[in-house]
Amino acid sequence: RQRNGSQETRSATATQQQGQREAGELRIVVFSNECAICSNEIKDGERCLLLKCSHMCHYGCVNQWSKIKPACPLCRTAGDTAFVLSSNSVLVPVLYLSLGVIVSPSNPSNSNPEIYRQIQLYRPAIAFATLKTAHKVPSNSLLHGMVLLMMSQEGEFPRVEVFQSNPAAILCSSGTTGRVKGVVLTHRNIISGFAGAYALRRAKASPAVALCTVPYFHTYGFIYSVRAVAFGGVVVSMERFDFRLMMRAIEEYRVTNAALAPPVIISMLNNSGVMEGYDLSSLEVVSSGGSQLPVVVAERFKREFPQLELTQAYGLTEASGGVSRTLGSEECQVLGSTGRLDPNFEAKIVDPETGIALPPFKQGELRVRGPSIMKGYVDDEEATATSVDSEGWLRTGDLCYFDNQGLLFVVDRIKDLIKYKGYQVAPAGLEDVLQSHPDIAEAAVVPYPDEEAGEIPMALVVRRSGSKVAESEIKDFVAKQLLLVAPYKRIRRISFINEIPKNATGKVMRRELRKLAFSGVASK
Ligand code: AMP
Repeated sequence: RQRNGSQETRSATATQQQGQREAGELRIVVFSNECAICSNEIKDGERCLLLKCSHMCHYGCVNQWSKIKPACPLCRTAGDTAFVLSSNSVLVPVLYLSLGVIVSPSNPSNSNPEIYRQIQLYRPAIAFATLKTAHKVPSNSLLHGMVLLMMSQEGEFPRVEVFQSNPAAILCSSGTTGRVKGVVLTHRNIISGFAGAYALRRAKASPAVALCTVPYFHTYGFIYSVRAVAFGGVVVSMERFDFRLMMRAIEEYRVTNAALAPPVIISMLNNSGVMEGYDLSSLEVVSSGGSQLPVVVAERFKREFPQLELTQAYGLTEASGGVSRTLGSEECQVLGSTGRLDPNFEAKIVDPETGIALPPFKQGELRVRGPSIMKGYVDDEEATATSVDSEGWLRTGDLCYFDNQGLLFVVDRIKDLIKYKGYQVAPAGLEDVLQSHPDIAEAAVVPYPDEEAGEIPMALVVRRSGSKVAESEIKDFVAKQLLLVAPYKRIRRISFINEIPKNATGKVMRRELRKLAFSGVASK
């Protein structure tokens, strides 16, 4: 059909649909444990996807596609948004891939006000929830319409016409700073990332079996799960992270590739005894992404699991996921690097103040450009313009450098930089040093205000169980690492805490940490 013709059709449909909608109501579809249609017994662990059309005239369930009636043409337009609030489940990628509308997944552990705000911002026509999360979706309050989602004849999905430039998904940006923003990714954004990954993948006799422990509402899990299906692979879904369950899944499904966040990699090191009880011989590649993997952890991992390829990827939601990754054993040996740029990306390192491009080995802000860069933030032209300049370069806010081989090294996040007497101190470097102390389970470094210096580096430390290591010992230990820690970078204040606050993808929540540093909770 001609582009103009289809646009006319769509706007006519939208007008008709408008007439059918009742204002002020949001229809929630719950993944139910009992099927109202097929009356099939739903076995343990299996779930039925119950779908309702906005006119209440069509129903469908995943067990009985043949019973599903033809689609109601008034019910769905490509511009509608579906809000998805669910923990990982095999149904979630099904929703992502088959709805034909814009999907906007959210973190089920978000608070009610956060979810309310997202719904306000994204204006979804429908919300998908689980029995556990449905109560968090405000119904009858923010409705912008309803939509028929999956209706099928003879087991086939009806087509919804979309263009590559149409939005495909709205994902939350990291959210650890400022108000949550909706990152709009178009089909082209996502497809170009997949095309790049496809070009990079190595020839395999059989498609990979991918274990996804990272959440599907976050770019990492979203892209990983959908891409695995797009490449004809298999995704093993984990509803929630559990170490033994992960081991069982690898053994039972002969998992070849596992997508992990750095904390899980650390837990593999701390639980190598438990791992010995499982047959993990199928596992070939462990991917780390979403946040910084400390060099000491990567080193230990390579020592303890020499048979596994530990790849590192760097990316961000605004770039539709991955921007660079290590490929092949040679690159994977370069500790601390997140590899070369993915195909379809250009990059430059610039002085964050002047914007002037810097040569290899010089640290500065990483800026990236290419067809995967987001369309923009929902209803926030100002933030979009601040993030993506007029030439299409995305400001990553990350302090990075390239070596002379084109390998990328992420040094820190610019926004978290500590300024000690005007000198820049990157917390990640100090955290690496602290992490290498045998009595420290985890550590994070934040800026702490100081009259003389402006800011001093403060360490929040989680001791290993049973350890009574003292503040002075840790300070001395750090100070002695003279090659890694310049004198002005020394830790000048320490507090002991029980755990480092992290978001669902394992990223340290710096704001929470700073709050902890100021509150009595973090006192010695
Ligand atoms: P998000 O949009 O939630 O994926 O967050 C993206 C941010 O996470 C990036 O801007 C980086 O600050 C950080 N990040 C992602 N991957 C890595 C990595 N491999 N190493 C260091 N930081 C990372």
